[in-house]
Amino acid sequence: MRLVSPLLKHVVYPALHHIGWLDHIMPPGGYAVVNYHGVVPSDHSVAETFLDGNLVQPEMFRRQLQFLKTHYNVIRPEDFRVWIEQGKQLPPRAVLVTCDDGLVNTLTDMLPVLQSESVPCLFFVTGASCSDEPGMLWYEELYHLMCTKPLIGSGLELPLEEGAESTLSDSFQARWWSTVRRASQLNAKARADWMGLVRGLAQADDSKPRSERRWRLLSIRELTQLAEAGMSIGAHTTSHPILSLCSEEEVRREIEESKNGLEKALGRPIWAFAYPFGNPSTMGEREVRLAREAGFACAFLNVEHWSADPSNPFALPRTHVNRDTALPEFAAHLSGIHARLQRAGGS
Ligand SMILES: [Zn+2]
Repeated sequence: MRLVSPLLKHVVYPALHHIGWLDHIMPPGGYAVVNYHGVVPSDHSVAETFLDGNLVQPEMFRRQLQFLKTHYNVIRPEDFRVWIEQGKQLPPRAVLVTCDDGLVNTLTDMLPVLQSESVPCLFFVTGASCSDEPGMLWYEELYHLMCTKPLIGSGLELPLEEGAESTLSDSFQARWWSTVRRASQLNAKARADWMGLVRGLAQADDSKPRSERRWRLLSIRELTQLAEAGMSIGAHTTSHPILSLCSEEEVRREIEESKNGLEKALGRPIWAFAYPFGNPSTMGEREVRLAREAGFACAFLNVEHWSADPSNPFALPRTHVNRDTALPEFAAHLSGIHARLQRAGGS
């Protein structure tokens, strides 16, 4: 969605949306999957615009759900599973709603909107949500810690990624992402230990973001509440690294343990998986193979098209919705028109 040209976003899609043209186009394959990362909780002031870009305002979320109910057939995640596993036909213009990561706001702020609109959702959560004290997504915490205390000269900088250039002259965000990539090469235990050292370096409590609902991951008690409210749960690895940078053994462990851990903690089968970050720069065919071997029914990307076979149930495309996704753009992405235009334009 980041690549939408201003002309499409501000002129073409609003015009097509206005005349209702987008609402009659059948999405590719006859169905669409929408993906969120939570909503902005009411106790969070939007100070960090970069990391907040993945969240939507609750009112916009409601309008998007209402749009789906008007122009699509919203299906239950279980219906999607039966279609994948048994080939039972989906209704025309089926749409599945999903949400990644399992931040606390999915329970406190997103669930009430889903319930009042009677829309079911498939939530992909990490292994952290099998515990009582789950903490934050490590790469978001790292962003805050690096804002408080630069790593340069601290002795905690990780070795450069093979073939990568030094990023000293880059923007803060580029340096942070380069550090996320380098830390993803550590195994989960070594990365957690390294994060402990970075935390110690930053020391100050003021590096801790304030809104738990914005930043913290669901605990097992909260995840159980979400599941008991009728929502479906899928796996999203144990610790959310960039999988393509991990060893094969580590990728296998991240995928399998997240499935087994959630099944044990929730007492229900975990049949769906979503790749962390889920785009071609963070995963590839090896991850697709390992998700299949782990015994899931299907696995989801976070992009709308993929170079490999689009009907592969372990590389299912999704429309990623973010803060800047206005309704006309939302409609254009769901219809598949946006992906087609991008392919035609070679981007
Ligand atoms: Zn994620």
